[in-house]
Amino acid sequence: MITIGERQTKSEIPFDVERIRADFPILDQKVHGKPLVYLDNAASSQKPRAVIHALKHYYENDHANVHRGVHALSERATEAYEEARIAVQKFIGAPCLRELIFTRGATEAINLIAQTFGRVHVHAGDEVILTALEHHSNIVPWQVLCWEKHANLRVVPINDDGELRLDELEKLINPATRIISVAHVSNALGTINPIQKIIDLAHQRGVYVVIDGAQAAPHLRVDVQKLDCDFYAFSGHKVYGPTGIGALYGKPQHLELMPPYQTGGDMISYVSFEKTTWNQLPYKFEAGTPNIAGAIGLAAAVEYLEEIGRDSIASHEHRLLEFATERIASIPGVRIIGTAKEKASVLSFVVEDMSALDVGTRLDIEGIAVRTGHHCCQPLMERFGIAGTTRASFAMYNTLEEVEAFAEAVEKIVASARPRAGASLNGDYPYPQAAAPSTREAAEEIAEVFEVVDDWAEKYEYLIDIGSKLPAMPDVLKQECNRVQGCQSTVFMHARKKPGTPDVIEFLADSDADIVRGELALLQRLYSGQRAGEVLAFDMPAFMQRIGLDKNLTQGRRNGLAEMVQRVMRFAENVAGQKP
Ligand code: PLP
Repeated sequence: MITIGERQTKSEIPFDVERIRADFPILDQKVHGKPLVYLDNAASSQKPRAVIHALKHYYENDHANVHRGVHALSERATEAYEEARIAVQKFIGAPCLRELIFTRGATEAINLIAQTFGRVHVHAGDEVILTALEHHSNIVPWQVLCWEKHANLRVVPINDDGELRLDELEKLINPATRIISVAHVSNALGTINPIQKIIDLAHQRGVYVVIDGAQAAPHLRVDVQKLDCDFYAFSGHKVYGPTGIGALYGKPQHLELMPPYQTGGDMISYVSFEKTTWNQLPYKFEAGTPNIAGAIGLAAAVEYLEEIGRDSIASHEHRLLEFATERIASIPGVRIIGTAKEKASVLSFVVEDMSALDVGTRLDIEGIAVRTGHHCCQPLMERFGIAGTTRASFAMYNTLEEVEAFAEAVEKIVASARPRAGASLNGDYPYPQAAAPSTREAAEEIAEVFEVVDDWAEKYEYLIDIGSKLPAMPDVLKQECNRVQGCQSTVFMHARKKPGTPDVIEFLADSDADIVRGELALLQRLYSGQRAGEVLAFDMPAFMQRIGLDKNLTQGRRNGLAEMVQRVMRFAENVAGQKP
């Protein structure tokens, strides 16, 4: 294995990562008492001082509405907004300013294309081609269009490495094909798609091409003119810019003919009650007051990126990815998902006998931020036969030392994985006994444990421990009707009225995530074997606050827990309602 030292001396381009880190104030902090290692960059990257200062400067000095005022501030704001457009235009090599539309992000850009260009060009019986590795943002807008137009979606398959099957794409294109919409880089796997080949192939057959560049813009040099794509979309917050801003490039001949996406102020040239005419490009597609500060912040971000040097960034990130891949691939019980030859800095993996949610939660306790779950790519997860992955994604400010800390943490977590015991299909499956004579007393007992530990790591271990003792739920009860929706992991709960009692409820439950099993065990201790009326009267939010879980669980986990509690409450209401 190559050591960190060897990798650094192998570097061809000097890259002062410590200097870059100093530009990102957020990185200098501890999380759960450990130095923050931020590896969730594919979801959203952090902001350099240049961006923070640009926003602050704008709001402190120049803010006013754009394109409308006759006063100095409006003039300055308009100038800054339009200069931002020039910076973003240069960033993606758009030939002309009128081809560069500010949007809220990639999602809004793709919706805009589907609802305007798509509506004009796609008719009944036509086809739109997507690929198996698209983000939901590049699936659902097309799906909705196809439903509306009675058109059909076709999907280019991938191989087991997560690479597009171009041979299959060639077969899919036919006279009914109107549009191909494809990610430049896959957010879940990191695959860099051969978009130049796809664009050339499509154009030879008269098919338009939309590129979802959300994951490419932070890592690759993009030149829309050279690519000759019809549309290119990306989000500001993934290229070190603010949230709520992004850009769409479109060929002018398309943009001119497209109807507006949204209507209102600024996008019109003349309005009367009889007739309205549209403003010129790009304003025809920027209805209402735009995200002025966002555009200015985005311009600062892309200028910062260019200053560091996109090739230097790419080669640094490539080193991080290579090192991480080597380290993670060598851990027994870990499988990397997405092993394409051409990859940007995304590393997705699954751990045997452990859900991605558990891996992510344990990494968080070590101060390491990663993403877990389906990454808004549910069809892709289905293609690999998995519920989700743990994804580490690297940015220019990450270091080899951080990758090493991440790999060591994964090693430790994997070593703690316990093989799952399967519940038998037949025979008895006892429901748990009441943990205490009443819900209130059960709550007191739990609170006593939680009150002596204020460290989240210890509370977490306690939850994992009680979760490991959760009474087995037989597979026969793990059916769709018992599935709790709205959770980040797979959760089943089956409740019943305790036989021989008028109003006592009891339930069995299970999840693929240890942390969720811990939460289910907590709920069982509180509620299972208790009278429905008492269950309904118990103040769960106050209890969560008392034991501190309201602060320790993430919003996503709190929502999941609330869904589980809701399920118990609905059942308790039914039982209480049936009581004679
Ligand atoms: N496309 C890809 C490939 C993405 O990764 C994302 C976000 O993760 C999006 C589209 C949507 O981007 P946004 O949420 O910024 O609109």
